[in-house]
Amino acid sequence: NTDVRESMYLVSEFAKDYFHNTLLHSEEGKAIGYSYFKERGFTAETIKKFALGYSPETWDAFTKEALGKGYKMEFLESTGLTIAREDRPFDRFKGRVMFPIQSMSGRVLGFGGRILTNDKKAAKYLNSPESDIYHKSKVLYGIYQAKQSIAKLNNCFLVEGYTDVIQFNQSGVENVVASSGTALTPDQIRLINRLTKNITVLFDGDAAGLRASIRGIDLILEEGMNVKVCSFPDGEDPDSFARKNSYEDLVAYLDENAKDFIQFKASLLMNDAKNDPIKKADLIRDMVASIAKIPDRIQREIYIQECSRIMDISEQVLTSTLAQLVQKDV
Ligand code: ATP
Ligand code: MN
Ligand code: MN
Ligand code: MN
Repeated sequence: NTDVRESMYLVSEFAKDYFHNTLLHSEEGKAIGYSYFKERGFTAETIKKFALGYSPETWDAFTKEALGKGYKMEFLESTGLTIAREDRPFDRFKGRVMFPIQSMSGRVLGFGGRILTNDKKAAKYLNSPESDIYHKSKVLYGIYQAKQSIAKLNNCFLVEGYTDVIQFNQSGVENVVASSGTALTPDQIRLINRLTKNITVLFDGDAAGLRASIRGIDLILEEGMNVKVCSFPDGEDPDSFARKNSYEDLVAYLDENAKDFIQFKASLLMNDAKNDPIKKADLIRDMVASIAKIPDRIQREIYIQECSRIMDISEQVLTSTLAQLVQKDV
């Protein structure tokens, strides 16, 4: 229903402004929220560009303010900004710094909220629930700020988190979006596909990031797009890496370390077990399985040649393995 969605957009827009103003102008927001972002190295300009905010540490300050301005409880609840409980509704995001999640055209769809402590027991990030306007599998954080740069540079960097997107922007690399905690989905990839055919996956330098990169590769290939992967040193994520390096060093690092997916998978073997024939065979099968996802026959052929060269195995064997897999798919 369009009227319902319109009301949900309006209350989300109001919430974005409320959280942002609270961050900039309230005593609590300045002391807690703004100083948190400053400590992470975000400038005033960056905070404005991403409309970052702060939700006060009270039961219902936001909800009361919204109701006072005439927004209906129905839409506060359906957007998940307010949680109804036993006659005493409360603010979902209380005490968190806020990251508004915007559509390609800039509409506010939902929020991510981060706790300020490093309390391992509490969920670090809390997101808006699924709703008529927020489908987490269909949004990419940062797409609104990135779209022009992605089209112009004809490449999109894909990262995991909000702060990775923000820190890259501040470093001067604007063609970047995040899947924000969800495993990458075909809908998210299609959103990028409207702007460019080229994606460079930049996931965290840890085991989870590596697994996510590997999963992402096949999904991107299946959409008929080109994928590169760039890894970060152990324990670094794009945010921490960008913060430690100049723009020039960051761009040089991305340039030198972005590998196509065959090279990326081959490099995993080098770290893992280059002299183990069984592992090598598994890896080659895995590479061919990825190649089989590519819709274009000529591209498949080119990657088979590359795989043959890098892994030192005959094209013939690879081609027949590929033929079995491609046949299974149709
Ligand atoms: P930070 O630098 O603020 O600690 P991060 O972006 O590096 O955050 P990661 O732990 O690498 O955080 O997670 C990547 C992304 O996954 C986050 O940006 C967030 O979107 C999502 N995420 C992380 N933890 C949670 C959680 N507990 N619940 C929901 N989403 C989460
Ligand atoms: Mn991580
Ligand atoms: Mn991270
Ligand atoms: Mn991080």
